[in-house]
Amino acid sequence: MTITLKQYWKNRNFEYAAELTPQISASAAEIVRRANKLLVTYHAATGTTEPDNVNSGWRPPSVNAATKGASKNSPHLTAQAVDLSDDSEAIDRWISTDEGRQALEDCDLYAEMATATPRWCHLQTRKTVSGRRIFRP
Ligand SMILES: [Zn+2]
Repeated sequence: MTITLKQYWKNRNFEYAAELTPQISASAAEIVRRANKLLVTYHAATGTTEPDNVNSGWRPPSVNAATKGASKNSPHLTAQAVDLSDDSEAIDRWISTDEGRQALEDCDLYAEMATATPRWCHLQTRKTVSGRRIFRP
């Protein structure tokens, strides 16, 4: 299964419409597109159908400020990141395999290391400072 833009927005595109810019809309569509490309590869490789839920998508400043542990410079602020539900850590484990790392490369995505994201998987389009596909927050 893949995720939808509707799942990504969590209604914040309506609730925080005043803060929504064309750039944020474009970035949201792009992170969802790339995450879905990765999910299709993941499902084909593992035969699984999960995750198909979004824990966290776009965070307007007030939402980000109220999010426990969120970085002040979080790529969620610019809709350049998505947190997929990953209760069993299965996708995080797969991402750390050679096949998973290759998928990150092919989809041009960066992932936060598994130990930093218990029960979810953080993917982002924003390039990391180190350029590493799997990074420490
Ligand atoms: Zn995240």
